[in-house]
Amino acid sequence: DNGLSEADPEVRGIIEKEKERQFKSLELIASENFTYRAVMEAVGSCLTNKYSEGLPGKRYYGGNEHIDELETLCQKRALDAFHLDGKKWGVNVQPLSGSPANFEVYTAVLKPHDRLMGLDLSHGGHLSHGFMTPKRRVSGTSIYFESMSYRLNESTGLVDYDKLEEMADRFKPKLIIAGASAYPRDFDYPRMRKIADAVGAFLMMDMAHISGLVAASVLANPFDYCDIVTTTTHKSLRGPRGGMIFFKKDTVLGVDLESAINNAVFPGLQGGPHNHTIGGLAVCLKYAQSPEFKAYQNKVVSNCRALASRLTELGYKLVSGGSDNHLVLVDLRPLGIDGARVEKILDMASITLNKNSVPGDKSAVVPGGIRIGSPAMTTRGFTEKEFIAVADYIHEGVQITIDAKRAVSGSKLQDFMRFVASPEFSLKDQVSD
Ligand code: PLP
Repeated sequence: DNGLSEADPEVRGIIEKEKERQFKSLELIASENFTYRAVMEAVGSCLTNKYSEGLPGKRYYGGNEHIDELETLCQKRALDAFHLDGKKWGVNVQPLSGSPANFEVYTAVLKPHDRLMGLDLSHGGHLSHGFMTPKRRVSGTSIYFESMSYRLNESTGLVDYDKLEEMADRFKPKLIIAGASAYPRDFDYPRMRKIADAVGAFLMMDMAHISGLVAASVLANPFDYCDIVTTTTHKSLRGPRGGMIFFKKDTVLGVDLESAINNAVFPGLQGGPHNHTIGGLAVCLKYAQSPEFKAYQNKVVSNCRALASRLTELGYKLVSGGSDNHLVLVDLRPLGIDGARVEKILDMASITLNKNSVPGDKSAVVPGGIRIGSPAMTTRGFTEKEFIAVADYIHEGVQITIDAKRAVSGSKLQDFMRFVASPEFSLKDQVSD
C-alpha cells in the first residue's frame, strides 16, 4: 500500500498548499485552532477502520476490546478535564461534531414541535440553536422544533436577561440554550437557571467556543447550573473535529438524561462512532489537564484583551465594549463600511477572520462587523505584543477598505454601475422576477 505522495499526488499537493496557507497566514477565526501533532497522529491511525456501534461493553460488532478501552479512557479524561464527578455526570464522546451534538440533545429531551429558546444568530448565537428567518425555517432545529430567539440589549451588547425572562414566561420553552458563536462575554448561568426553573425548562449550555477556557477554569463553570453541556472539540479546546455531550446522571423533568442522550446519539441519529476522532480527542483531553494548557488558556484571554484595548485606542467600537474571553466583535458601521469588504481586503493580505453581524444589523449578507479570535495565533506563540501589532494591521486593512470604497464611489465604474441600475437601462425587464 503506497503513501499519499505516491498514491495520489493531486490530493497531497492540495494538502501541501493548505499547509502553506495555514503556515503563512494570520489565523484569527475565533472557532479555529491548530491541533497537536499527537492528535493528528491518532486521527490518521488505523482506528478509522473499525465499526463499533453502541457503547463500551455493549457493541453491535465484534473485535472491540481495544476500542472499548479507548472510548472508556476518553470518557474518563473528558470528565476529569472538566473536573466532574463521574457519579453525578456522564459524557457521550461520539457526536460527530457540534451541530449533531446539539440536535441529539433536542432529540433526547424534546418531542417534535416542543419549544426551545437560544440566542439569535444575528446577536451571536449559532444556527443549531433554532435559527429561522421570518420567511424560512433554516436550521433543522427550527424545522422540527418551535424556536423563539432571545437577544442582546443593543445598547450594552450584553444578553438581555430581563427580556429573556419575560419572553420565556410567555413562550414557555421546554429548553433554554446558553452559549454562542460570537459573544465576547461570559454567560450568567445562575440567572439563566432561575429563568429555566420558573418555566420548567431544561437548561443547556453549548460551550463550543469556550470549552478550553472552561476546562482551564478561566471562565465560569456551566456545570454548576446546567442539566446538559455540549461542545465541539476543535476550537479553544485544540482537539480533533468532533463533539461531546455531558449530562447529569439524573432524571430531570421526567427524563432520564443518560439513557435519553445515549439513545439519541445511537441509534437515534448516528451509526458507527468515528474511533480515530475519539482517539484524537482522548489525546487532547490528556493535554487539557496539564499546567501548560491552563497557561495557554490564560494567554488566549490576555492576548484577546490586549487586542481589544489596542482596537479601542484606535477608536473602534467593540460590541459590549471589550472582551472577557477569546474573541472581540468590532462594529464597523460608524466608519461607513461593512465586515464583508474588510474580510475580503484582509484576506488578500493573508489575515483570516470573519465578517460577522452586530446587534442592529439590517443584513446578514453584508454584516456590519468582524469577529477576531485569539486561540489559533496564541497556539503559535503570539504574545500581547504581537496581538497589539495584529490590531494595527487590521486597522491598516480597514483604512485600505475605506479608501477603496471611496475611490470606487468617485470612479467612472461607479457611474456606469449607476446607469446599469437605472430605470432607463434597456435590459431592466430581463432581470426582474
Ligand atoms: N455551537 C457553537 C456555539 C458553534 O460556534 C458551532 C460552530 O461554530 C457549533 C455549535 C457547530 O459546530 P460544528 O460546525 O462542528 O457542527
